[in-house]
Parts: sequence; C-alpha cells; structure tokens
Amino acid sequence: GGTVRFEDVHFAYERGEQHRPILQGVSFEIPAGKTVAVVGPSGAGKSTLARLLYRFYDVAGGRITIDGQDIRAVRQDSLRRAIGIVPQDTVLFNDTVGYNIAYGRPGADAVDVERAARAAHIHDFIAASPKGYETVVGERGLKLSGGEKQRVAIARTLLKNPPVLIFDEATSALDSANERAIQAELRAAAQGRTALVIAHRLSTVVDAHEIVVLEAGRVVERGTHAALLVAD
Ligand code: ADP
Ligand code: ADP
Repeated sequence: GGTVRFEDVHFAYERGEQHRPILQGVSFEIPAGKTVAVVGPSGAGKSTLARLLYRFYDVAGGRITIDGQDIRAVRQDSLRRAIGIVPQDTVLFNDTVGYNIAYGRPGADAVDVERAARAAHIHDFIAASPKGYETVVGERGLKLSGGEKQRVAIARTLLKNPPVLIFDEATSALDSANERAIQAELRAAAQGRTALVIAHRLSTVVDAHEIVVLEAGRVVERGTHAALLVAD
C-alpha cells in the first residue's frame, strides 16, 4: 500500500457565516503497509478525516497525499479503487449476502465472492447455520446482526482488494465478544495494507504502528499504545 499523509489539514462543513472549524491543522503520516489509529472523543473530527481521505469532501486547507501525490490530482475512480472504506453504519440491500458483497464489483465472480466471504469470516456465522454456505450466501432478505452486517461490509471491501483501507469505528456498535472477533478480522484484513483505523477507545487499537489522539480538530498526542498508556 502507499504512504498516506495528512498535511496541515483544515476543514469546516459549513462556509461563510455558519463556518465552524472541524479540523484545525491536522498532520500525521501512515507509512506504507502500516496501521495508524485515530482515537478521541465523539465529535473530535475522526470520521471527518476518513471522509476527506475518501474524498466525500475536500480539504479547505492543507492537503492529503498518497505516495506524495495530492489526492485532488487523482481521478476519483482511481482513488476509490485504491481505497476501501468500511463505514460506521453499514446499510445492506434487502437481497442476498452474495449480492451485497459483489455489488459494485463488476469483475467479481462467485469464486471471488466466496474467497472474500471466507476472508471476512462470514463462514463463522454461516457455519452456525444448518443451511450451509451456498444457501446462506444465496438467500434473500436474511436477518443479519450488526456483527454479521459488518462482516459483509468487510468482505465487500476486501473483494476490491485495495492497498489502502479505512475502518471508521467499524466495531463501535457491537457487543464486546463480537467486537473482539471483528477486530481480529480487521487486523487480518489490514495485513500488508496501509490502514486508517478510527476508534473511540485505546483498548481496541493495541497493535497499531501509531495512535493519533484527536481532540476538537487538533492532534493533541501521538505515540504507541504502550507510550500513551504510560502518559495516561
Ligand atoms: P467523530 O468521528 O470524532 O465523532 P465527526 O468527524 O463525525 O467526529 O464530527 C466532527 C464534528 O463535525 C461534529 O461536531 C459533528 O457534529 C460535525 N459534523 C459531522 N458531519 C457533519 C455534517 N455532514 N454537516 C455538519 N456538521 C457535521
Ligand atoms: P466502495 O468504495 O465500497 O465501492 P462506495 O464508494 O460507493 O463503495 O461507498 C463506500 C461507503 O461509504 C459506502 O458504504 C457508503 O454508504 C459510504 N458513504 C457514502 N457517502 C458517504 C458520506 N458522505 N459520508 C460517509 N460515508 C459515506
């Protein structure tokens, strides 16, 4: 994966009179192939960082680069091929798991879908069903739990095989057993990729290369998990 850099990033959702700064000069780097976690209180601007990297919005000041190139100079389709995002709230189509995994992935065949499903450990919940993989992945209108939905979203993102991954509090809505399981899958998925992991608790990002603490749109601390615990 490429090296991602946030360089003195400023951002506000509103312009003009309503202008309220959300990010106020955020700088940090995610070295190629490493995972950097951003933690901090609700409203600090963590998700906004993820949205700016995926270019749902553009920075108001500063820049974001991948391997030195400003992402605004990259075609939107190439940028979105290079980056996979597992959003906070996954909304699935009322269709089969297989359809949801393959949606928007025109080149993918059944073998690719099954591989992605297995990589996201969808077979864990499928294995618990007496119906078997084929039936469950092919069944319409399944009632999925939050953790299962997240696994489908992870599989969908893995199918794209992007060098850069964004996990936006992908586990915050889950109970702790499910959260641990999904965390393990996210770690496996991040292997060899450049990953931005948004989290609200330090305890969920123990093995990140670096942890960036964001408060009110500014980086207030950064370091390894161990270093930040000592500082606490
Ligand atoms: P975090 O992920 O750290 O909880 P966010 O990046 O979601 O923080 O939000 C940062 C701030 O931006 C919050 O005050 C939030 O209310 C505001 N915000 C988020 N999304 C929007 C939006 N689409 N329009 C206006 N304000 C927004
Ligand atoms: P993919 O990158 O997986 O091909 P998309 O680019 O269509 O898929 O969208 C990625 C994810 O981001 C989707 O789950 C979508 O719901 C979510 N998303 C779309 N718009 C926004 C937004 N403005 N803010 C945050 N998340 C968004």
